[in-house]
Amino acid sequence: MYNITLIPGDGIGPEVISSAKKIIEATGLKVNWDIVNAGINVYKKKGVLIPNKVFESIEKNKIALKGPITTPIGSGFRSINVMLRKKYDLFSNVRIVKTIPGVNSPFKNVNLIIFRENTEGLYSGIEKKISDNSAEAIKIITKNASLKIAKTAFNYAKKNNKNKITVVHKANIMKLTDGLFLDCVRKISKEYPDIKLQEIIVDNMCMQLVMNPSQFEIIVTTNLYGDILSDLCAGLVGGLGLVPGANIGNNMAIFEAVHGSAPDIAGKNIANPTAIILSGAMMLNYIGETKKSNLILDGVSKTISEGKYITRDLGGSSSTTEMTEAIIENMLTIKKFMS
Ligand code: ATP
Repeated sequence: MYNITLIPGDGIGPEVISSAKKIIEATGLKVNWDIVNAGINVYKKKGVLIPNKVFESIEKNKIALKGPITTPIGSGFRSINVMLRKKYDLFSNVRIVKTIPGVNSPFKNVNLIIFRENTEGLYSGIEKKISDNSAEAIKIITKNASLKIAKTAFNYAKKNNKNKITVVHKANIMKLTDGLFLDCVRKISKEYPDIKLQEIIVDNMCMQLVMNPSQFEIIVTTNLYGDILSDLCAGLVGGLGLVPGANIGNNMAIFEAVHGSAPDIAGKNIANPTAIILSGAMMLNYIGETKKSNLILDGVSKTISEGKYITRDLGGSSSTTEMTEAIIENMLTIKKFMS
């Protein structure tokens, strides 16, 4: 029995988290879900964005599946997502961007993983108003965090027999900050002589990605570039509804989709649940339940490639719940076939 924290979150969060929960249960995994909530809805009821029992649950279980949480715009509110990543030193943000056959996209063979530094950079939250006409933000880059994300990316490459890593930076302009990040990645790369390190400046990377994304496999980069490149890459494979992610530290991990709370489609039962379902599959992989994780991947792929029960962002007309039920049906068929 696994104890897992489940945070529904805001906007489409509760709808897609409910799908992911059903799918994970359909694999046969025995889970004791600890359901706690944070975000705007909680704030409206209780006056706090993130109640203590959310922290307690994450600290106890060390593993969470989380829906998107909206941070109110304006001063006085720090992003909950950023705060959780920093508080628990979840230093690597891993995002898997992979073509799913059947999805309408000009690119057919995208298969890349983004390792985004998750705790510093321009997300440090250090901003200062200088005068009525100017403000500044401080970008923090440390050797410690840069070495850790680089090591994570290279370890992953080695374990998965990949022979190239692309580091994305802007060290030609930000010589001290991005320069330090680049130096750290170079330093770690020396420990892995069989893996080639490719260095690309972030603006060129954007162009290369939209021209020929299949030339890249593993990307390692700083916090803000990683955030922007993730959404760009999501666009290459059919949109934000498809891309899963994980925030991983040394002994704790929070799994969540790349997308936000999508208030424009919230409460309509039309959100694509795939991204959070695949985040759930990443979570099962993380806890060593590889077979069950693969069953989810196969069920999702089959459902999307059949194209009968898919949500409207993918060109279909099914609801979130119909797509979820179709995935479960396909998983059960695959399971029967395998046994
Ligand atoms: P945030 O600041 O939290 O990232 P955002 O509004 O910038 O939020 P998203 O909430 O990710 O970004 O939404 C961006 C667009 O993608 C919206 O038009 C939204 O409807 C769409 N979108 C996001 N997630 C999904 C999904 N799961 N299914 C369908 N469309 C989605």
